[in-house]
Amino acid sequence: MSRVYLDWNATAPLRPEARAAMIAAMDCLGNPSSVHAEGRAAKSIVEKARGQVAEAVGASGADIVFTSSATEAAALVLAGQNYFSSDLEHNCVSVWTGDTPQPLKSVAQQLANNETGEIYDVEPATGFCDAVQAFGKIPYAFAWSGVERAIISSHKFGGPKGVGALIFKQGIEVEAAIKGGGQEMGRRSGTENVIGIAGMGAAAQAAAKELADGVWQIVEQNRNVFEERLLNEVPELIIFSKDGPRLPNTSYFAVKGWKAETQVMQMDLAGFAVSAGSACSSGKVKASRVLKAMGYDEITAGSAIRVSIGPSTSAAELDSFADAWLKEYKRFKARQEGK
Ligand code: PLP
Repeated sequence: MSRVYLDWNATAPLRPEARAAMIAAMDCLGNPSSVHAEGRAAKSIVEKARGQVAEAVGASGADIVFTSSATEAAALVLAGQNYFSSDLEHNCVSVWTGDTPQPLKSVAQQLANNETGEIYDVEPATGFCDAVQAFGKIPYAFAWSGVERAIISSHKFGGPKGVGALIFKQGIEVEAAIKGGGQEMGRRSGTENVIGIAGMGAAAQAAAKELADGVWQIVEQNRNVFEERLLNEVPELIIFSKDGPRLPNTSYFAVKGWKAETQVMQMDLAGFAVSAGSACSSGKVKASRVLKAMGYDEITAGSAIRVSIGPSTSAAELDSFADAWLKEYKRFKARQEGK
């Protein structure tokens, strides 16, 4: 049986437009900082991508700095600064922030949570917005958000892994963390990842078009049908953040006491890629920090798995996942009841 990939919030499949742009950029010889024709050709690839990203994220009147990841873009803004955030933030934000609001501190807030998919109201006064999971899945425009700094990550919307961007209002100070050759207007030194940036630009453009075409509404319908089926068959199922604004592609659920780690492994063996709430780089599964911050107990937070889908996920694939998961659920219940 072929594998079914249901882990789009971890990383999305590469878009054909991004692949084509990267293949074309591979033949570009020059260094974007060189003044000769070869250098100018490389520079024009980077600048084309900057324009594509700017248009896709609605960033008129803003500047964009390409980085190696959203994690790096977050560090560029937050390291050494007095930001505070809630415990719901991604680690790449929360490592730099305090959790007690104090006067004169700026707020860092995500637009959508990577685990639950919950969408938050991000006030214009917020200093920093993590738009990584939201961009491409729900309408987003940096300019009308009013926020002064935001980050996005290429691989979450069908670009290559290892490229991200900081978007910031013109006139905002961004102090370089990586200093050297002065690339990216002096905000991020190091020769640009021309191939990756080309892929990110093409992916951003394609993602914006897809969203405008209404493709994610179908994703949402498929997700909702899937959840209805699970809820019908498993009344004890908890679906997190189900009743508020939520990303159209994310379903995060738990059967209390059925360990997330076990479920992820069982599903992997059955041919499905899903993830637990939080996986650290060692691959170990821990109880979800986000769910604990939302007030759930340790056992529930350790029992949650996330199914995250995209436009190429079919209803049949979700159905076959539900079949496999329900089969394992029945075995779990039988074990629990000592049968
Ligand atoms: N912010 C959120 C909400 C994320 O989900 C992720 C990736 O998982 C990141 C930031 C970090 O992105 P990157 O992989 O580009 O470092």
